[in-house]
Amino acid sequence: MGSSDQSIAAQMASIVNHWVDGAECAPSADARYGEVFNPATGQVARRVAFASPAEVDAAVQSAARAFPAWAATPPLRRARVMFKFKELLERHTPELAALITSEHGKVLSDAEGEITRGMEVVEFACGIPQLLKGEYSEQVGTGIDMYSIRQPLGVCVGITPFNFPAMVPMWMFPVALATGNCFVLKPSERDPSASLLIARLLKEAGLPDGVFSVVQGDKVAVDALLEHPQVAAVSFVGSTPIAKYIHDTASARGKRVQALGGAKNHMVVMPDADLDQAVDALIGAAYGSAGERCMAVSIAVAVGGVADALVARLAERVPKIKVADGMDPAAEMGPLVTRTHFDKVKGYVDTGVAEGAKLVVDGRGLSVAGREQGFFLGGCLFDDVKPGMRIYNEEIFGPVLGIVRADSFDEALRLINEHEFGNGCAIFTRDGDAAREFATRVQIGMVGVNVPIPVPMAFHSFGGWKASLFGDHHMHGPEGVRFYTRYKAITQRWPTGIRAGAEFVMPTMK
Ligand code: NAD
Repeated sequence: MGSSDQSIAAQMASIVNHWVDGAECAPSADARYGEVFNPATGQVARRVAFASPAEVDAAVQSAARAFPAWAATPPLRRARVMFKFKELLERHTPELAALITSEHGKVLSDAEGEITRGMEVVEFACGIPQLLKGEYSEQVGTGIDMYSIRQPLGVCVGITPFNFPAMVPMWMFPVALATGNCFVLKPSERDPSASLLIARLLKEAGLPDGVFSVVQGDKVAVDALLEHPQVAAVSFVGSTPIAKYIHDTASARGKRVQALGGAKNHMVVMPDADLDQAVDALIGAAYGSAGERCMAVSIAVAVGGVADALVARLAERVPKIKVADGMDPAAEMGPLVTRTHFDKVKGYVDTGVAEGAKLVVDGRGLSVAGREQGFFLGGCLFDDVKPGMRIYNEEIFGPVLGIVRADSFDEALRLINEHEFGNGCAIFTRDGDAAREFATRVQIGMVGVNVPIPVPMAFHSFGGWKASLFGDHHMHGPEGVRFYTRYKAITQRWPTGIRAGAEFVMPTMK
């Protein structure tokens, strides 16, 4: 068996361990554990160890020891590790995707898609020698030159959500590592196994021990990372209350923080939109991955007379979505991640009915043959959703789409701008003026024009506004390079230059 085959076997072991100093490490004798489910069967698939503060400290210390040598490694050599890692990721995509589906529930092709989107950040990080080039000004004063460089921060931490167990960590660590940092990942405790396979592949790619570690766990591990004096920066993706907590706690301890939160993404359908295109877009964007995407469309704003036709077409399509075990090649939508999350999403549907929204398609009674214990909820569609309702104001994070009827473009725009969240949005129209006006005036970080899920490519940056991001850097792309490095400006003069003697005034260039 090759080392990667062994790694797959290790993933299937009943305990998901930590990864420190380049190896899996068994949890301490008194460790706490969490249950990891296969959401399609409803059964506990394995248990995940929860790190104690002492175990977190060991991972951070290991990273701090590895940092000086890794920071001093030429960027070109760091890029070569990324090249190799990309090759290994490609080769192991089927295993990684199957692991993701078995713990998250999303359909296998979607799990492969998330790996591809993460791999694009690895490809971006392969260009790090070019990205790290500074600026040079010759002769800023007589015989004086000046240049700027960007240097790594030290030990950086990533705390990630359940919904993209491979892609979201890969928004962070490829850029952090390529810029010369060490990285400690605290993955979601709901689908932790992908992180260990990734750690093994990084080692196989030639990454020195200690440069990348994984601590499994819950709030205890997170708090230990936030408090740790040797942690320089924290990247977080998850729900808004936790994002705010991470931002406030880590910044108060002097750490650099980017904390991405929840979302309520609106898609505006104008009367002149191509309705077939808009309906296809809504079906994929609202119900793909069972709505467990931070860029899922959860509100469609139907402007003017388009609403009745839009609702009629959606009402016909939503019940036909094929809901099944994500490993079934015919599946279009899998289960929700846990029973607790299923209950929460179903509870929102009950609330929407009680609040007076019109439930046009009710997916609550769905049962999947042979998977009766799985956490399956069929697609739900509400019409007449209104601001002020909980199903409008709050993030549901499930296969529930609400239609809001608006009289005009201005009303649609105002709805979006007045909403708490600011992650993504889209407009569907044939009118270039309306699209341009929308893109200019909307208070949202990522905007689509006839594109329902406008996730930026890896060489741009990902992030929202308002309650969807705390901190001032978006993730990956140029913003990622800036986040994981510090700017240094160097002004130099050599002895052959002009000697002015001691100067007691503010230096000015002569
Ligand atoms: P979550 O906030 O529950 O958990 C995220 C991480 O925080 C996990 O690693 C978890 O262990 C940790 N955590 C949870 N509670 C904590 C606490 N009290 N103290 C410290 N740490 C804690 O999020 P989730 O349910 O895993 O993921 C879904 C959420 O993530 C949704 O709100 C979704 O919109 C959001 N999300 C946002 C983006 C984005 O780009 N803005 C991307 C993906 C997911």
